[in-house]
Amino acid sequence: MLTKNEALNGLPGAPHISYRNEALHLEDASLGDLARQYGTPLFVYSRAAMLAALAAYQAGFAGRNAQICYAMKANSSLGVLQVFAQAGCGFDIVSGGELERVQAVGGDMRKVIFSGVGKTRAEMRQALAAGIGCFNVESEAELDVLSDVALVMGLVAPVSIRVNPNVDPKTHPYISTGLQGNKFGVAHEDALRIYRHAASLKGLRVVGIDCHIGSQITETTPYLDAMDRILDLVTDIESAGIAIEHIDFGGGLGINYNQDAPPAADALWLELLAKLDARGYGNRKLMIEPGRSLVGNAGVCLTEVLYLKPGEQKNFCIIDAAMNDLPRPAMYQAFHAIVPLAPRGDVPELLCDVVGPVCESGDWIGRDRRLAVSAGDHLAVLSAGAYCMSMASNYNTRGRAAELLVDGAKVHLIRERETAADQMRAEKLVC
Ligand code: PLP
Repeated sequence: MLTKNEALNGLPGAPHISYRNEALHLEDASLGDLARQYGTPLFVYSRAAMLAALAAYQAGFAGRNAQICYAMKANSSLGVLQVFAQAGCGFDIVSGGELERVQAVGGDMRKVIFSGVGKTRAEMRQALAAGIGCFNVESEAELDVLSDVALVMGLVAPVSIRVNPNVDPKTHPYISTGLQGNKFGVAHEDALRIYRHAASLKGLRVVGIDCHIGSQITETTPYLDAMDRILDLVTDIESAGIAIEHIDFGGGLGINYNQDAPPAADALWLELLAKLDARGYGNRKLMIEPGRSLVGNAGVCLTEVLYLKPGEQKNFCIIDAAMNDLPRPAMYQAFHAIVPLAPRGDVPELLCDVVGPVCESGDWIGRDRRLAVSAGDHLAVLSAGAYCMSMASNYNTRGRAAELLVDGAKVHLIRERETAADQMRAEKLVC
């Protein structure tokens, strides 16, 4: 017979998130206490959960020449970046703003790679001046511009070309990036020609090859297929006399949101490394760009129930977090588990949609959930560490939430709640 706590546990994000005496905790911090002290909506992240996720990759790469570049688009809050910078990670960036965030936490610029289809000349200059490790170039036109920019600065830009391996990652179409018809990377069949072109440009030095096939991938086969396609190309490119120092397999590994069962990072890499070894590339420098799998299950968003609104066709549980805080359900019909901070046995369970205050019907956080709650109760939206705060907006002039980082029982405020004055700071009245 399970105890009540055992019956409640086994949540996405376990073991760092768990009920203790029927109160939800992240590490040793009581989330109910934090919600009361700091207010809601409130993001709370576990340092230990992030480091455990990183450790799974490090275990997978033990004894190899590998560099992990955290894809900071998943969560670029400075307190989160600090955890990864201190753990020796590099960073995958996609804008000049992200570059400045890496600088703000003292990250090692030589471990920074710059991805993205639309780098501006100003961003290229900024990254060259900072001395980043590699530009992951996504088109032939970008190669020409980058070479020009580097030559004007008297520098040579280290480049890798993102190749689109045309592999189906079997994920949501909006987060599938490695298929023909996606805007990312260069086509596999054009890659050799484009590598020859890159090697001929005076402002560039070819150092690697990269791919990234999508996000929230829960199967191993798409990675194995992509690896085969990329290794075929490495053979061809090197036969053409162009050395490839590193191979970057991107990010994309999924997490458990709702009975998803992605492979563990170390198990995935055991299989991928076996293929690399079998094909004779096991000693090559490897790079990866994981985002979601390092932070997704390390974070929760705490919210208060404002009103219960029973209806003819639907019941609604209206909370104080909304699509501006948690955009994934509205964007991708994504699922987040929603659980009470202190489960109640004294109120009836209601089948309801959990919705926010924003003036859009798309502002829902969970559909058809069974919750036993009253107004004033607190809930946790789980698996909210990735692609939530970094995608948060001010729609409806809602301030972005505060953020905490817990480390055991220690709690650090890493972002203050945004005020309306903060939001209006850069605006001007017409005089
Ligand atoms: N690398 C690139 C180029 C990406 O576009 C992304 C996300 O879209 C990532 C890495 C990180 O992906 P994930 O968070 O799924 O690991």
